[in-house]
Amino acid sequence: MRAAIVTGSTSGIGQKIAEKLAKEGFDVLINGFGELEKILGMCSEMSKIYGVKVIYHAADLANANEIKEMISHAYELFGRIDVLVNNAGMQFVSSVDDFPDDKWQQIIDVDLTACFHAIKHCLPIMKKNSWGRIINISSVHGVVASINKAAYVAAKHGLVGLGKVVALENAKNGITCNTICPGWVLTALLQKQIDALALKDGLSNEEATIKIVGEKQPTHRMTKPESVADMVYFLTTEAAENMTGSSITMDGGWTVP
Ligand code: NAD
Repeated sequence: MRAAIVTGSTSGIGQKIAEKLAKEGFDVLINGFGELEKILGMCSEMSKIYGVKVIYHAADLANANEIKEMISHAYELFGRIDVLVNNAGMQFVSSVDDFPDDKWQQIIDVDLTACFHAIKHCLPIMKKNSWGRIINISSVHGVVASINKAAYVAAKHGLVGLGKVVALENAKNGITCNTICPGWVLTALLQKQIDALALKDGLSNEEATIKIVGEKQPTHRMTKPESVADMVYFLTTEAAENMTGSSITMDGGWTVP
């Protein structure tokens, strides 16, 4: 039985990644914020359906000690860590001159520094088995910029760079590190935005989606969270064994022009 840690997996893309890995037979550690009862219910449901261990750790990723503790906890319970998915992330929107210092720090801490700490503590464990898959969820904003997203763009570009260094340093250790860069992903949060716009402007679901993503994504469609989860799983398979240091865009053509 192989084991995976998925940060920020109590909702959105991370939840789909955790589900996919559980379905494919991985024991999974779920992490993130939310209502404890609901999260524990989700863990036992996944465990029952897929016949794997699914455990929860509430580490706040802004705290380096809690990350270390989470990884030790996973190692103690699973006896191995094969896959680390650095998925948790947060966003704040403001122009640079008005950007609150604490928000800058929080985003850099959660979206970038936490990934460094998680990788640092997983590497010695993965090296013991000469096998590991580190998968970072960056963003199209790890490749290009948008206005008012200074901290997010800086952190996500940083994560792409971190992934490349980890790939190079571990090229002969059986450990790969790749970074997925999604554009708009249709999470429940974004569907709510679409629904609100559709209601306000009297648009269909499709028209409201195009209004939101059309300017950036030539396909005029958002990526499904399940597709990001499938890409994560692909990176754990034999077909991807010689893929490392890659930045994989899933952005409906956003970065093509
Ligand atoms: P989400 O808000 O649904 O999920 C974020 C997860 O991270 C949650 O589980 C939350 O509890 C957790 N989290 C946040 N701060 C944390 C902290 N300090 N400690 C522990 N957990 C914390 O977001 P999502 O849309 O599913 O995004 C997941 C990842 O995908 C993020 O890194 C995001 O930047 C990236 N992404 C999302 C999109 C999109 O369109 N949704 C596009 C590109 C990239």
